[in-house]
Amino acid sequence: MAGHSNADWLARSQRAVWHPCTQMQHHAQADAPSHLPLIPIASASGPWLTDFEGKRYLDGISSWWTNLFGHAHPRINAALRDQLETLEHVMLAGFTHAPVVELSERLSALTGGALGHAFYASDGASATEIALKMSFHTWRNRGRPEKTGFLCLAGSYHGETVGALAVTDVAIFRDAYAPLVRSPAHVLPSPDARLAEAGETPADVARRAADSLRHYLEHHGAQTAALIVEPLVQGAAGMVMYDPEYLRLARALCDEHEVHLICDEIAVGCGRTGSFFAHEQALNADGLPIRPDLMCLSKGISGGYLPLSIVLSSDAIYDTFLDDNVARAFLHSHSYTGNPLACRAALATLDLFAENDVIAVNRETSQKIAAALAPLGDHPNVRHLRQRGMIAAFDVVTEDPYFSRRFYRAALDQGALIRPIGQRSVPPSPAKFPNQQIWH
Ligand SMILES: *Cc1c(COP(=O)(O)O)cnc(C)c1O
Repeated sequence: MAGHSNADWLARSQRAVWHPCTQMQHHAQADAPSHLPLIPIASASGPWLTDFEGKRYLDGISSWWTNLFGHAHPRINAALRDQLETLEHVMLAGFTHAPVVELSERLSALTGGALGHAFYASDGASATEIALKMSFHTWRNRGRPEKTGFLCLAGSYHGETVGALAVTDVAIFRDAYAPLVRSPAHVLPSPDARLAEAGETPADVARRAADSLRHYLEHHGAQTAALIVEPLVQGAAGMVMYDPEYLRLARALCDEHEVHLICDEIAVGCGRTGSFFAHEQALNADGLPIRPDLMCLSKGISGGYLPLSIVLSSDAIYDTFLDDNVARAFLHSHSYTGNPLACRAALATLDLFAENDVIAVNRETSQKIAAALAPLGDHPNVRHLRQRGMIAAFDVVTEDPYFSRRFYRAALDQGALIRPIGQRSVPPSPAKFPNQQIWH
């Protein structure tokens, strides 16, 4: 029927919709090596996406890492229906509501109370910007206005708005808009375990990278507001994995030099790495998890249902904003801050984690993933097969600049949605392939 076929939706989408992070021409040229098929989805259930002609795709990347427990999950659906009938939205300035209170309390409890307050936004990039603003403003409220500098790791990805690009070191996202970025962060060496030299362990690489941080802070710590990291796994860099030792040392160095540690757990939070938050795998001298001063959450936190991001802050940071003077308050808001539907979806998601002991189940699942992927390690073109909890990755050595797209299309033909990242930071260098298709 006209208007209901794949082809029809595809043509209408190409005419009217500007798709994210996409060279739209790659959708149009079906015979080009860079071709990206555009796939209209009619419905989804569990891990399956279904197009308008009944073809199913396994949602292998959880719709950009958002969907934790499957599409149309009965528990999350029921919670949202109930919330719809109760309170769909109310502004959060001057008003509050049950889902936002309960979610804030539960997230704080998940940090052992270390991060006592939750600030709300809708997307990850905004959470990054909020964390940067909070850090800077905390220092100003403490009479340290000179602490304005930010640090990030090589290959870091913290979002694509102009403010978030200041701490994003992925060339494809940053270079085009570099002239718009007012004060880019200082980029430190990544503790990427693949950089190990002969005889070095991942922890040795982490210590080497931490030495660079130490050196920088010894000279510039007094002007530095915060270090922002993706704990344990730098996703957009090409699933870079590193040893928790880096986080432990970074925490100690940040304390020593009075610099905030911001953990961007947008991708790695919610159980992805084998603990609920990735930073929990770094232990301090007392054997307890280190804690950041600020933590960003998004992607999986609402179960893949609604746009929601959260910045959790320590009470020490929160307290510096308390004053009679409005200018000392945290000056940030957006219209849908703390949307009750999104918070309710997040609460249902946390319920599923608790009731099904998901972190323990994940440990078994990750062992199965490791066993299933192990034979790949022997493939002559495969390098650095690696894993952290539920995240497994490997690099492919290839001369084909379109390898990742061919892989993507081949998987789609088999009914699986996976998005190989493309050449990033491992040799051969991207310069070798000026037309290298890099995406995320
Ligand atoms: C996805 C992501 C972001 C940005 O989130 P958006 O909702 O896409 O703006 C920031 N940091 C990390 C680590 C991410 O994976």
